[in-house]
Amino acid sequence: MSLYRLIYSSYGIPDLGYHDLKDIMEKSEKNNQSDGITGLLCYGDSIFLQILEGDRTIISQTYHRIALDQRHHTPELIECVPIESRLFGIWSMKAVTLSDLNSEEVRNLILKYSASITLQPHTMTSQQCLNFMQALVKLYEKASSF
Ligand code: FAD
Repeated sequence: MSLYRLIYSSYGIPDLGYHDLKDIMEKSEKNNQSDGITGLLCYGDSIFLQILEGDRTIISQTYHRIALDQRHHTPELIECVPIESRLFGIWSMKAVTLSDLNSEEVRNLILKYSASITLQPHTMTSQQCLNFMQALVKLYEKASSF
């Protein structure tokens, strides 16, 4: 297996609702688990940022399927690189909604990794996106432990 990491961002459609998000999360977790894909999907400020880790061919097929989904638009590929090991190994696809977390901590985190207080991955480097997502996992785990 050729292990790769793919990062992309996209814009949620204007009337994206709770049920859409729930369906996306559930489908992602179910499909990714059987496809051996790990990663993180983040949604906030009407923007999706997702990291997919797994076999290159499967990652590519999954990305192209996601890109066709009518619930978001204008996907931008930020990175697709070979990796030695997974960073999100325990999660088949965890989905984090920024509004569910402490807003001040989230804004500080976004500010730390970009020049903005709203999530704008198109202005961030792939490394900034990766660092932001890893820090987000820590915030999420902290919030979930209460
Ligand atoms: P079905 O759920 O039966 O869907 C069949 C088709 O209908 C697909 O083309 C799907 O895009 C479309 N569709 C389904 N529901 C709706 C709806 N309510 N409105 C409009 N179109 C709809 N899937 C993954 O497997 N892994 C991921 O990591 C992943 N990440 C995603 C991230 C984002 C930001 C989005 C928007 C979607 C993501 N998806 C992901 C979902 C993906 O786009 C497909 O919907 C899903 O993989 C198809 O699942 P399925 O084969 O069970 O088909």
